[in-house]
Amino acid sequence: MPLHELNRRDFIKYLAGGLSVGALDWNSFPTGSQTTKKENQYDAIIIGAGLGGLSCGAAFARQGFKPLILEQHTKPGGYATTFTREDFTFDVSLHSTTVGERNGLHNLIPGFPEINDVEFVPHPNLYRMIFPDYDIRVPQKNLRQYIDTLIGYFPDEKAGIEGVFEDMKGLADDVGKISSARGQINMQQFPVDYPYLFKTAGKTWGDMVYARIKNIKLAAIISSQWGYYGLPPSKLSPFYYAIPAMGYFVNGGYYPIGRSQTISNALSKFVQGHGGMIKLGARVKEILVKDHSAYGVKTDSGEEFTARVVVSNANAHDTLTKMIHEEEFLGDYIQKMKAFSVSLSCFQIFLGLKTDLVKNVGIKDTEIFFNTGYDPEGDYQRSVAADVENGGYGLTLYDNLYKEYSPKGKNTVNILVLQGFDHWKQFETDYFKDNKDAYRAEKKRMADVLIEKVEKTLLPGLRDAIEIMEIGTPLTNVRYTGNYRGAIYGWDQTVDNSGQRRLPHKTPVKNLYLAGAWTKPGHGYGAVIPSGLECFGEIMKGW
Ligand SMILES: Cc1cc2nc3c(=O)[nH]c(=O)nc-3n(C[C@H](O)[C@H](O)[C@H](O)COP(=O)(O)OP(=O)(O)OC[C@H]3O[C@@H](n4cnc5c(N)ncnc54)[C@H](O)[C@@H]3O)c2cc1C
Repeated sequence: MPLHELNRRDFIKYLAGGLSVGALDWNSFPTGSQTTKKENQYDAIIIGAGLGGLSCGAAFARQGFKPLILEQHTKPGGYATTFTREDFTFDVSLHSTTVGERNGLHNLIPGFPEINDVEFVPHPNLYRMIFPDYDIRVPQKNLRQYIDTLIGYFPDEKAGIEGVFEDMKGLADDVGKISSARGQINMQQFPVDYPYLFKTAGKTWGDMVYARIKNIKLAAIISSQWGYYGLPPSKLSPFYYAIPAMGYFVNGGYYPIGRSQTISNALSKFVQGHGGMIKLGARVKEILVKDHSAYGVKTDSGEEFTARVVVSNANAHDTLTKMIHEEEFLGDYIQKMKAFSVSLSCFQIFLGLKTDLVKNVGIKDTEIFFNTGYDPEGDYQRSVAADVENGGYGLTLYDNLYKEYSPKGKNTVNILVLQGFDHWKQFETDYFKDNKDAYRAEKKRMADVLIEKVEKTLLPGLRDAIEIMEIGTPLTNVRYTGNYRGAIYGWDQTVDNSGQRRLPHKTPVKNLYLAGAWTKPGHGYGAVIPSGLECFGEIMKGW
């Protein structure tokens, strides 16, 4: 239903629902007894040990239930993993996330206060954005300074700049208030109590920015984080720009010592330490269903496991169309899924350098967005078309985060562009048959273009400094995480697929649930860990 057709009551439910991440009352949840199950019988089976699957499994284990997590890969974490080539260990995904502080240390993973051995370090600045006429470093935890910098460059837009950040803060505050209200909302008072939520309903992030900002260069600068959320301003839900962006501005951007794998390992240890089980190298082929109710799974090797509920952390598309054979029963649901757009994938170059080029060149930043113009809409279209020639790139210089990230005197560098899947479809069949000549030639061609760009713009001497190079394409994402179309953010966060409208945890198949980026609230470390917890909370409603 389009937003303008919602009646007032539905409208308020639309705003309120799906925004209550973190408002879970753990004391009210039932507890289980792990000793009562037979072999291969569990309280919950979780398909996939991505962060969403691990956090859901951890919630079951913490409450004394017996969960089993089945993961196709040989290590836990999904996108939150690392891989090693000779002396270098590369992070598959993580650039920046937010984390809580405790006794002066940043080691508080939201929802998991028991975990205290993963320490995070701040980025020296939140990020640096380079545009043809501007080179701006966004400071850590100093939104005022960032706003003043923008006003310094665009004094005529002072009121608009103040206004747009006020709207972002207001929206984030309203969401916080509504989460704490735990459903106790006075509907008559809604526009007064939650004015920013009210005025943003049905709008895109672009609507929100252009209501305040006239200068297109300034609008592009303010929207420069769009790559973190996967859509350009004209398509992106304001919730999924304003709220996480505000989280970064206010709470800072952090990175774990030991890379993203330490988060996944800590959650795995938590699951196992509380009596849960994780089986690696176990790919689920089929979800077992009787009378439209899930009761277990079957793996590629033919093993069967049964449970009271099945939670899929694998992508929602394949979960409902390939792992389960309920086409007729799920007809409407699948139609609805087909109408959702799938997020972009990515092309990544992982470089191990034999020299300390970053120090020699004198760059102290960690996260750099290099833009060739002021046109996020055009940049998005170029990403969809896998056009690497015309457009910018993201550059992460991990050695500026903490000492000893790389072997002494060397560097670990990541070049990243968002990319559509369609360009890589022509190589897919051969890729999975291990006939990779054409695929390898294409990825080398693209890598050459991007390395040359980075060399000319920020890191002279880059090519000669390369000791190790690995390239990840959308097909690499499919291979290692099973994500449909190599998507890195699940479904796009469009206005029609965010908040209450995002695909819910509960599916029409009884006892089958979803956790992770493809469901509520969405992608990103700061969302998928809560997604697993929220999914557990949803299951407990009917336990
Ligand atoms: C390049 C890149 C950069 C990113 N940067 C950031 C960042 O800086 N900050 C941030 O917050 N977020 C970032 N993200 C997004 C973030 O990584 C993801 O949103 C998040 O990790 C997704 O977690 P998930 O639990 O939904 O699932 P996934 O990580 O997709 O995990 C799903 C798991 O299910 C398993 N699986 C799939 N099918 C099966 C099956 N049939 N049987 C068994 N197991 C199966 C997979 O192997 C995988 O382990 C980035 C992502 C990418 C790719």
